[in-house]
Amino acid sequence: MLTKKIRNFCIIAHIDHGKSTLADRLLELTQTVAKRLMKEQLLDQMDLERERGITIKLQPVRMNWQGYELNLIDTPGHVDFTYEVSRSLAAVEGAILVVDATQGVEAQTLANLHLAREQNLTIIPVINKIDLPAANVDLATAEIIKLLPEVSPADILAISAKTGQGVEKLLDRLIEKVPTPKAKLAAPGSRALIFDSYFDDYRGVIAYVRVFAGNFQANDKIEFMATGKTSEVLEVGAFKPMLEKTLELSEGEIGYIVTGLKDLSEARVGDTITNYKNISALPLPGYKNVKPFVFAGVFPQDGAEFNDLRDSLEKLSLTDSAFTYEPEKSSTLGPGFRCGFLGLLHLDIFQERLRREFAMEVILTTPSVAYRIISIHDQETIIHSPHDFPEPSQIKETLEPFVKAEVITPVEYLGNIMKIFSDKRGEYLTTEYLDKSRAIVYYNLPLSSILTDFYDTIKSVSSGYASLNYEYADWRKCDLVKLDILVADNIIEALSILVYRSSAYQDGRKIVDALQQALPRQQFEVKVQASLGGKIIAAARIPALRKDVTAKLYGGDVTRKRKLLEKQKKGKKRLKAAGKVDIPQEAFLSLLKR
Ligand code: GDP
Ligand code: MG
Repeated sequence: MLTKKIRNFCIIAHIDHGKSTLADRLLELTQTVAKRLMKEQLLDQMDLERERGITIKLQPVRMNWQGYELNLIDTPGHVDFTYEVSRSLAAVEGAILVVDATQGVEAQTLANLHLAREQNLTIIPVINKIDLPAANVDLATAEIIKLLPEVSPADILAISAKTGQGVEKLLDRLIEKVPTPKAKLAAPGSRALIFDSYFDDYRGVIAYVRVFAGNFQANDKIEFMATGKTSEVLEVGAFKPMLEKTLELSEGEIGYIVTGLKDLSEARVGDTITNYKNISALPLPGYKNVKPFVFAGVFPQDGAEFNDLRDSLEKLSLTDSAFTYEPEKSSTLGPGFRCGFLGLLHLDIFQERLRREFAMEVILTTPSVAYRIISIHDQETIIHSPHDFPEPSQIKETLEPFVKAEVITPVEYLGNIMKIFSDKRGEYLTTEYLDKSRAIVYYNLPLSSILTDFYDTIKSVSSGYASLNYEYADWRKCDLVKLDILVADNIIEALSILVYRSSAYQDGRKIVDALQQALPRQQFEVKVQASLGGKIIAAARIPALRKDVTAKLYGGDVTRKRKLLEKQKKGKKRLKAAGKVDIPQEAFLSLLKR
């Protein structure tokens, strides 16, 4: 295909503003998918995506319209999946910015727009859902112009992705406005950027690519520039949206390459593939490596399933480049893994996928953030678990991740929102007004504050109207201590947590009280304590279960009765000495859900 006949674009929007529905209409209009095969949100291929109505994975598709080849990449809207968005953006020249006419601009509209501009994409603003009675096209128009001053009202298309109204016009607009594919690098040689990849059991590694220069065909010898791995192309093709073989992938096109590789790690997302027919000396700029900031322990519910769990995690990590895992052992839960995520939704989706794709039920420990520790010898480590927290005497400084958060809210809820931020150690930055009725408020705050029920709180104090987005900002000093929890004088490792020194007493008290409620009574009295550097700061007692050993004895013989009670007392002493209290998993779980 001639590059001047190709247009590459993606759709960006706040979650639920209609990206996937718009993609459906585009597929229909261009007759890419036969009407009888059409189902709603067709590009959301994972069951999980369809059920929750959210897009998790980016998804490319090729369409033909009036002699042009249109390559679309549908992207997720949620902040946890921003890395999927930025990868899609690097592969295209234009972005349709969808704004819901009943909601207006929201937090992720801003965030995604910001990413698109960083890539110098041509933005095509669209107002969606104009079929709804609550649609306010004028207000949405004004908000878009506030963000994109270069745009005039006439440039903004009003559409309904549901009824298809205005969508044909949008196709024409795309051809007119989105620039023809650019080579990106002036250097000679063939180059294709890998923006996604997966492992197919029968065909090995399949790379999703954008060709920036040259072309690729079956039997071509190729090199992966970052890993230096060479291979031979087995097949190339396009997404229709299922893989469909083509003769070649030419300059400017988006498609797939069956690489002949057997190991996904050799074809890394962000790497450049070059063709020996026309070898390139320079790789394309790759992606920022995303690092997880949120960590949780993952343990098999049944210890015998440890190996299965390991296999599942390995497979998941191949399809999810932002997910990490390393072995971890807990005295209560046995062997398991410490896993890293981009955020809580990412963690949630991970657990669902384990359940559905691998039939694995797991125990998740309370998520926590990563901390950076600088030792008294100026050595730096990032720790993912309280177990790795060093001796306080060895620590010079502890740092925690901070995020920059923005909330878009109707002005009447501004006060509520600001109160929550200040309760959560937020640092106020500024407020901007989108229009008379809605404001954007900016704060810095610790990531750990967001890990609790922050998002839900923001939603509930704004009757659901406020939207939140955040990005990692920097590391900041914090005063951290490790709180150990003891049951019958034994430290229960899995319950240790890192807390701010200033709130350690309250936190200790809360956990001890919760444990007192959750633990079943034993034959003997059990102490539950919270300790800070060896010092007990909170304690509670669970009284012994008094088993009535004398119940069998009817009346009379007092001496026998006393003897029995004596015996029981001795037995209790022995048990206590052994100090063994089994913490049932239910009790443990009820604590984690705290
Ligand atoms: P995404 O999260 O941006 O991909 O949004 P979806 O495409 O999944 O759409 C979110 C919801 O809005 C779904 O229930 C759609 O049916 C609905 N929706 C999308 N576009 C329109 C529209 O133009 N009109 C109406 N009435 N509903 C729409
Ligand atoms: Mg979607």
